[in-house]
Parts: sequence; C-alpha cells; structure tokens
Amino acid sequence: MPWTTGTVGTAAGLPGAIEAQIDPAWQPWLDLLDVALEEAGDAWDSVVTLRDERPDGAPMLHGAYARIDTSRARRLMRRLGDVSGVRAGGVVDPSAVIRAAISRDDRALEEMAERSDASIDAFAAVAQVAAMPLLMAAALTLDSRAASVWQRGYCPVCGAWPSLAELRGIERERRLRCGCCGADWPLPLLHCAFCDELDHGKLGALQPEGEEQLHRIETCETCHGYLKSATTFGALSIRTLVLLDLTTIPLDLVAQDRGYARPARPGWAPAIETPS
Ligand SMILES: [Zn+2]
Ligand SMILES: [Zn+2]
Repeated sequence: MPWTTGTVGTAAGLPGAIEAQIDPAWQPWLDLLDVALEEAGDAWDSVVTLRDERPDGAPMLHGAYARIDTSRARRLMRRLGDVSGVRAGGVVDPSAVIRAAISRDDRALEEMAERSDASIDAFAAVAQVAAMPLLMAAALTLDSRAASVWQRGYCPVCGAWPSLAELRGIERERRLRCGCCGADWPLPLLHCAFCDELDHGKLGALQPEGEEQLHRIETCETCHGYLKSATTFGALSIRTLVLLDLTTIPLDLVAQDRGYARPARPGWAPAIETPS
C-alpha cells in the first residue's frame, strides 16, 4: 500500500477518553506505571553520570555510571511489589534490578526473577517500570538539538525502539516516542525506524477503517517491521503515550496478522554501571 499524503486530523483524544478504552486486563500495568510516575522527580536528577566519549550510534546512557539511592530504590521496589505481588526487594539489590532493566541484561533478570520466586515476564515488567524514574530523569536532560541530529530509529537516551510515532501538529512532523523514558526525537516519514530503509516503494501504511487519520500502522517490506503512529496536536505525556500504546493493541494484532513484527532485541542495549 503506498503512502498517501494525509490531511490534518484531530488530536488523538483526551487522556481521560483514552483511559476509558483500556482493557481491564491492563489495569495492573497502569497501576505499576502510576507508582513509577509518583516516585519519579527531582530526586533522580543527578543519579547518572554520562560518559564523555561514546561509540558512534550509542545512546546517551551507554557506559553511564548510576549512583542509585538504595533506600529510594528499595521503596520503589516495595511499592511496585505491593501492586504486582513481585517481592524482589527482600532478596535482590534494587539497584541491580534497575541496572539489569536498563542494560537489558536478560540473564541477570532471569536469575533475579528466580530468586524472587516470580515469573520472568512479571519480573521483567516490574523491572522495566522500576527503571522509569531514572530513565525519565535522564531523558529530561536530552536537549532538543541533540534529539534533532540523532536520526536513528532507536531511542537516543536508552536505546529502546519507539513505542509509537506521533504525527504532530499542523505540519504532521513525525516524532518517535520512547515508552521507557519518554524521549522524543524526529525521524522523517519515509525512514524505517528499524532498518533505516528509505525507499518509499518499500514503506507503507495500514489504515484501520473508520478511524480516519488518527491511528495507523507504518510498515516496512524490507525488515517486516511495523510501528504504530498517531496524529497529535502536541507532545504526549509519557502516561498518555503508554495509555495510547495499550488502547491501540488491536492495531498490533492487525499488523502481526499480516506478518509484520517488532524487533525482538532493542536497538541498542546500553551497558550502565552501578556501585557494587
Ligand atoms: Zn528511551
Ligand atoms: Zn525496515
């Protein structure tokens, strides 16, 4: 399906309206997210020391040193445990959980899940949310100039693939958004986020019927990747971003049904260090 030059749509609903569409099965995930958002803030501001020199293409956090406040991390893990039932804080070092989540160290996460008597999926979900306050604080230090010269499909801060693309404002500027840290960076419309394909003959879009221009699926015939996109007026908050990702799961199902997939591995897993 070729790209069409779309008309300007209306904003992708209000957060309240999006929340009303959430499948109750996802509520536990939202409860975890709300704990992370409550625990986020200034206290995480100077936790990370970035490395001056990084390899070409490395996201900001690659090689960074994180001095995580143990009692703050412990409280975060305890609160996430209250919501999820994953009791990790007693048996594993909360800083190690955050480090493993950011570095996407699957072996460490598996080992910690086992020690916490939790399933790997539940543990990995909690670990990902536990890393959010630190990741969000790091993303706030990404200046718009650095974001605008990034020009890669994965997050300039944490290396994750974008959770969705915003087609923002009257110009419908394509801004990729990271659901892990909230980072926001531009990538041209005809540029696959996953394999850097630029050939418009290979890039397409699936448009759900009746949804007008609000949501669609960007597809790539070269890597068979897909990315959801949404028309927005302005930058979505990270909470709205996550909500929108959840309410558009039917789009994921359509894309997967047609043979498209999201890459299994992150764009770049940044190795970070914490005091041992
Ligand atoms: Zn990120
Ligand atoms: Zn591609």
